[in-house]
Amino acid sequence: MSIIMATVDQYVTDDGWWFLSCICHEQVVPDSPAYYCERCNKHVLMITPRFRITFHVTDNTGSATFLMHDSVAAEFFGIPCSKMLEFGENVGMSSYVPDELLNMVGKCYLFKVFSKVGAGCDGEKCYPISKINDDEELLGRFKRHNSVVIKLDTPSVSKYMSILEKLH
Ligand SMILES: [Zn+2]
Repeated sequence: MSIIMATVDQYVTDDGWWFLSCICHEQVVPDSPAYYCERCNKHVLMITPRFRITFHVTDNTGSATFLMHDSVAAEFFGIPCSKMLEFGENVGMSSYVPDELLNMVGKCYLFKVFSKVGAGCDGEKCYPISKINDDEELLGRFKRHNSVVIKLDTPSVSKYMSILEKLH
């Protein structure tokens, strides 16, 4: 796992930013009058919306696609996906993208990133993140450190990581 400082340059719209899930967290497909869950192999009535946000990020060494799962996004935005969707009810659900998400474009963040490529993105490599942080002091420290990608097995980084953990 690494901490990476990078700028969000694009929100990836292909799959939207949320999906309907079964209680097992698998995506369900509508199958009137209920929903079908492939993992549970049955029709389900208990469904809940969950965040699944992908965005493109760059730093001065390259670019990547990051994937923000439900728990990470809910913690970062401070509200669950169902609450976020309520704000969009008046503007048409299919095309609604919350300002909280659009406002991330152009901003620099610290990302705690799993180094293994995750599933869920077609084509390009996609890395799930386990934390996102926009604390200015932390970002400043990282800039002074002049490191874009820092591996966690170096001692200097565990210090940063502990701050990151403390803030969230
Ligand atoms: Zn299920």
